Amino acid sequence: MSHVMNTYARLPVAFSHGQGSRITDTEGKEYLDGLSGIAVSTLGHAHPKLIAAISAQAGRMLHTSNLYRIREQEQLADRLAALSGMQEIFFCNSGCEANEAAIKLARYYGHKKGIETPTVIVMEKAFHGRTMATLSATGNRKAQAGFEPLVSGFIRVPYNDIEAIKTVAEHNKQIVAVMLEIVQGEGGIHLASIEFQKELREICDANDWLLICDEVQCGMARTGKWFGYQHAGIQPDVATLAKGLGSGVPIGACMAGGKAAGLFGPGNHGSTFGGNPLACTAALTTIDVIEQDGLMDNAEKVGALIRQLFADALKGVVGLVDIRGHGLMIGVELDRPCGELVGKALAAGLLINVTSDKVIRLLPPLTFSEAEACELVGRVVPLIKDFLAG
Ligand SMILES: *Cc1c(COP(=O)(O)O)cnc(C)c1O
Repeated sequence: MSHVMNTYARLPVAFSHGQGSRITDTEGKEYLDGLSGIAVSTLGHAHPKLIAAISAQAGRMLHTSNLYRIREQEQLADRLAALSGMQEIFFCNSGCEANEAAIKLARYYGHKKGIETPTVIVMEKAFHGRTMATLSATGNRKAQAGFEPLVSGFIRVPYNDIEAIKTVAEHNKQIVAVMLEIVQGEGGIHLASIEFQKELREICDANDWLLICDEVQCGMARTGKWFGYQHAGIQPDVATLAKGLGSGVPIGACMAGGKAAGLFGPGNHGSTFGGNPLACTAALTTIDVIEQDGLMDNAEKVGALIRQLFADALKGVVGLVDIRGHGLMIGVELDRPCGELVGKALAAGLLINVTSDKVIRLLPPLTFSEAEACELVGRVVPLIKDFLAG
């Protein structure tokens, strides 16, 4: 541990292997995984189709270069374009990189229109990553503190506040885009209202702005549709993906359509590893399994069940503020900081998370069964009740 840079408050446990929604630590203790490594292990652990596909790909070839055509990348771009309604896709390795590409696209779009200081509207409580530009776009002062000067060109408004955006539109002629998470993850599982999304699309059209959806956490079927924006029936100009895209193999994507398509040419952006054959094979297989096994419907159904079970079990409990979410992106908000629940859950053989101090966050694999949902809620509820009573 001592030579690993101290950037995480790690729990004192390491895992050796997993199967489905269960994961086992190096001492042989088993845990129920209610977190999927923060919305990454879409297909759970050790999915046989993913193992077979990436093993076969590793046996053929891991990497070539974006100096050449990459067949698997072209196939994945076709699949994602069809699923998302986008036209072209840039591949990278993580969420912050996908958002960097989106921010660069927005600035490029602005400059092409003659806007000298392109500015992106971002949301309070947003999380877009830890690189300088994405940290600057993130709405968390604690994460930004000590890293100033931040990247300029962002203006922040409250989430779900259409009037605030209209006011900015009136006064700031440098705006080129609005960027938001349809469900805010790190910010505490907050949902953009359908009405807000629709009005946002209209305002972006009226002002010739790009609408950028950061789908890094809420995308890839987690909310019951491929992408969060599809619930409102809107079509953003740019959407970014990462976390669940490769089911654990690192890959990110910046997808562009509408006014954002066709902007970049050779030399405008790039990535050494981005979209390599191994990562794209993992993503293609993830998409196949989601489709074949009906995991979108499963996310919707099991997520609703989990929220219902929590609502029943925690009814009238003093200290409970809210139970919310969409599909398998679930937040249980308490009236006080509850980070200590994570360690208590771990001791009890459960992987959960607390974000935004007071929100218990659950992001189980999309393969999560109804029985596992009942077990998870049944085992988490006593921990919450004990905590609130103590
Ligand atoms: C996790 C996350 C990111 C950053 O992704 P990294 O892969 O850690 O860079 C960006 N946006 C959202 C919404 C996220 O949840």
